[in-house]
Amino acid sequence: MEFKVIDASALLHSDFSCSNQRYLVPNSVMLEILDEKTRILAEQALKSGRLKILDPGEDSIKKVVSKASKTGDDSSLSKADVDLIALALEKKTVLLSDDYAIQNTARQLGLKVEFTAQEGIKKTVKWVKLCEGCGRKYEASTAGVCGVCGSRLRKHSSG
Ligand SMILES: [Zn+2]
Repeated sequence: MEFKVIDASALLHSDFSCSNQRYLVPNSVMLEILDEKTRILAEQALKSGRLKILDPGEDSIKKVVSKASKTGDDSSLSKADVDLIALALEKKTVLLSDDYAIQNTARQLGLKVEFTAQEGIKKTVKWVKLCEGCGRKYEASTAGVCGVCGSRLRKHSSG
């Protein structure tokens, strides 16, 4: 069966026990998963073979970065986001994500993107940004670096 590429918030919405669909996820996305529920789901799916960790090649990453800089999405895309799109591009498969910048860039590359959150229902996953240096928490929409220590901010699901 064909694999689909899945992001961290989509992982939380997937019911691995009720579907035969198999998924691919890059290492960088696994590292972004902080909340326990998603982590447990992901680990179970890895054990059962429903989920596989795979990293995209440099060529695909370069294509995604170049496209994102043209669409202006590059400032919104984390390393993990870029890896997700690059992996879907490389495997010529569907990408599951509710992230606007991911969807936009993926579509520009001719990829098919599926939503996981049901229409009309508010998403339950909240995103925050955490400072890589001091761990300070910021709103997901915060751009730039940490105002306290100047380190990079990374997007995380806060459960
Ligand atoms: Zn900081």
